[in-house]
Amino acid sequence: MQTKFIFITGGVLSSLGKGIAAASIAALLKKTGKNVSILKADPYINVDPGTMSPLEHGEVFVTDDGAETDLDLGHYERFLDENLSQDNNFTTGKVYQSVIEKERKGEYLGKTIQVIPHIVGNIKERIKKAGEGKEVLIVEIGGTVGDIEGLPFLEAIRSLGAELGEDSFFIHLTLIPFIKAAGELKTKPTQHSVGELRRIGISPNMIICRSEVELDKDIKEKIAFSCGVKLGCVIENIDAKSIYEIPLMFLNQNILEPIQKRFGFDIVKPDMSEWNSLVKKVLAPSKKTTIAFVGKYLNLKESYKSLTEAIIHSGAYLDTRVDIKWVDSEELEKQDEKEVFKGVSGILVAGGFGSRGVEGKIKAIKYARENNIAYLGICLGMQLVLIEFARNVLGLKDATSVEFDPDTKEPVIYLIDEFINQNGQTQIRTKTTPMGGTLRLGGYECNIKPNTLLSSVYGGKTSVVERHRHRFEANEKYKDEYEKNGLIISGECGGLIEACEYSKNTFFLGVQFHPEFTSRLTNPNKAILGFIKASLDAK
Ligand code: GLN
Repeated sequence: MQTKFIFITGGVLSSLGKGIAAASIAALLKKTGKNVSILKADPYINVDPGTMSPLEHGEVFVTDDGAETDLDLGHYERFLDENLSQDNNFTTGKVYQSVIEKERKGEYLGKTIQVIPHIVGNIKERIKKAGEGKEVLIVEIGGTVGDIEGLPFLEAIRSLGAELGEDSFFIHLTLIPFIKAAGELKTKPTQHSVGELRRIGISPNMIICRSEVELDKDIKEKIAFSCGVKLGCVIENIDAKSIYEIPLMFLNQNILEPIQKRFGFDIVKPDMSEWNSLVKKVLAPSKKTTIAFVGKYLNLKESYKSLTEAIIHSGAYLDTRVDIKWVDSEELEKQDEKEVFKGVSGILVAGGFGSRGVEGKIKAIKYARENNIAYLGICLGMQLVLIEFARNVLGLKDATSVEFDPDTKEPVIYLIDEFINQNGQTQIRTKTTPMGGTLRLGGYECNIKPNTLLSSVYGGKTSVVERHRHRFEANEKYKDEYEKNGLIISGECGGLIEACEYSKNTFFLGVQFHPEFTSRLTNPNKAILGFIKASLDAK
């Protein structure tokens, strides 16, 4: 079987929603019965986004096989409802790293290593590998046409396009700005951007136009004519209330038809009825609840992308609008928590790194615990539950994490020396282990204690696989003391604490894993669903 490739590039500016457009097309094709996968190629130099600040790059998404990837992978999984892997995202850094490793091993002996053919060749190999066994692979190139660092990627897809002929389809996503003073939509930036693509040797087959307002026929004709595509291949992508509307918006414009024709596929309409009814509930739900979201990366909400999306999924499932009250954990340290949490039915403490804002999060946890407010703590949000409980219930005033005080006398959260990693190998971890790629990452099985909140949340299951991204672990030494005082360790994984819950409250749960990474619109994560339902019931 020859894999068909759809290449998506971006023009004019970044943040136009290329990832959502790619994911939407993937979702539609999947619903026609095709076996589709999707790949993000990122031209930046970091080997992966794992060491980037969430404020710099937004969330780091983690795949089941433990890759730290671009947040667009999260959109792909949520739209496709499939687990992707480390082959679905790579960067310039990764490409150079593998080419240089080969060079050092002498695999190119006698040759000068150059961008063309070696770097471009490596990019092509990676793209082909991601397409193996798939009917369609969608390839999104990060960044914007014209970026210096993107050139080898564009050369790679140009050359693949030449090899593939009719088995390739190029989509360019661009901006059609609306100039308010003139009351006009402008196509010039798009013309320039397509001109730049052509100079590189790529002629797009379809233009997706991001715009604030609808494009009339004249504008569409102008775009079609100047960019050399058919009128039916000018697709508008108007600002939507919800990203989940985009596949439906594309479907209304028959976006698949030109693709299906080029690839010789039967013209089949995807069945989007389930999706459609969920989108209706996202847009106009009948119930409402408010939760407080306590975090410290609030200046860039993209840092919590999977979590805010997971909340939307649970909301749609429960036909409920979930309003989020954003609470900055650092500011909370100085605020009156009663005031801050007035009117909220649930408190969520998200994951995080470093000591800034930690005391504010502990204050939120204490408030939720003492006032029986529905609580969900994720990763650091679980570790801080254990710290709060040790300090305020067990009376261990010095309890903390070695992340914040490496020499603490009460290391409630500590660094284990070794653990079994994703590949079944023992991974050694010490204070001097380098930061990049050394976290506990990806899916691990969590064994669930029967008759607990965790077990009821996961529908009575005795184990569940959820994804991880953390360096520190809860210290087993304190387990008996916790349990004697009502904080039950309800989830464990090979001796590591995975979940804890306060048996005296209605819903008070901390999980070491990140449940948000496995939530999908059509299949919301159970832990988050349980929390939103508890907040709704508490009203
Ligand atoms: N900083 C903590 C750790 O590394 C928690 C990480 C997180 O919340 N993702 O263990």
